[in-house]
Amino acid sequence: MLLDCAIIGGGPAGLSASLVLARAKKNIILFDENKPRNAVTHESHGFITRDGIQPLEFKRIAKQDLEKYLTLSIENQRVIDIKKENKFFMIYTDDGSSYRSRKVILATGLQDVLPEIAGVQEFYGTSLFICPFCDGWELRDRRLVVIADNDRAMHLTKMVSNWSSDLVVCTNGKQVFSKEEKQLLENKNIQVVEYEIEALHGENGYLRKVRFINGIEIEREGGFVAGELKQASSLAKTLGCSMTEMGGIETDDFGRTNIEGVYASGDTTFSMPQLIVAASEGSKVAAGVVSDLINEDF
Ligand SMILES: Cc1cc2nc3c(=O)[nH]c(=O)nc-3n(C[C@H](O)[C@H](O)[C@H](O)COP(=O)(O)OP(=O)(O)OC[C@H]3O[C@@H](n4cnc5c(N)ncnc54)[C@H](O)[C@@H]3O)c2cc1C
Repeated sequence: MLLDCAIIGGGPAGLSASLVLARAKKNIILFDENKPRNAVTHESHGFITRDGIQPLEFKRIAKQDLEKYLTLSIENQRVIDIKKENKFFMIYTDDGSSYRSRKVILATGLQDVLPEIAGVQEFYGTSLFICPFCDGWELRDRRLVVIADNDRAMHLTKMVSNWSSDLVVCTNGKQVFSKEEKQLLENKNIQVVEYEIEALHGENGYLRKVRFINGIEIEREGGFVAGELKQASSLAKTLGCSMTEMGGIETDDFGRTNIEGVYASGDTTFSMPQLIVAASEGSKVAAGVVSDLINEDF
């Protein structure tokens, strides 16, 4: 069977795109290997009507919404390759199956690469997060740490200072602030600690202390860490999609990439990394696909 569209990735972007495409009577398959970026979290915040929802519950409700649309199916498979053959795309999954589709939406998301500091993984998702817009409210007015050893240090510190005025920034042995920035932070009563971190300590996912290699310890109740972001999938590269300077897939307003028939939406385009933004982009890109299909066939 020739699909109208293959959607790769079943996060909010891919799920929302699937809904719009199914409601436009298109034959589609949503491929999802189910390793979302926020897999470590217990609750997701900031999605109106779903504030505080568990990520798995969010997905369950989304799939329930999709159930009644019979031109849509979901394959819980990783797509390992996509090849453009004339006007169509061949999609290969890791169970050895292949599919043919007129259009492809990449909604494959990003993955966070955290600094290699002992203990980070133990607290990540419970008391240590990456985004204050997502989890700042839960940590508001606590004694927080910002762990940042890269060029995002100043930006993240400024943002987190909105949620707590009791802040210590740890650069893990790196010099990431200019003299002026250090002065500014000092004026704001934000302590900068440039010692290398030995380990983070606490219990049951709750951070209590940061210990440095010189033996000094500071007590903290949670915080934010500036990781690096990487594409969760190399399919865009394989297909020859142009990337932005930041490393996102480059698209127009309706998610069209430079490769005709390939669209992208959600985190993978390096838009604002939020569930509601990814869902909105998924909806928009699906509208782009539907209108392109209608224009081709009319
Ligand atoms: C710790 C943490 C907490 C967060 N908390 C919040 C929050 O509270 N509120 C909020 O709004 N945002 C939050 N976010 C951000 C949010 O998770 C992302 O913005 C959102 O998940 C992006 O949606 P997406 O659909 O683009 O990608 P994702 O949700 O990452 O989904 C991508 C999907 O594609 C699948 N996939 C990838 N490659 C393939 C392939 N080749 N074949 C098949 N499937 C594939 C993945 O397995 C995954 O299921 C948080 C992020 C992190 C890291």
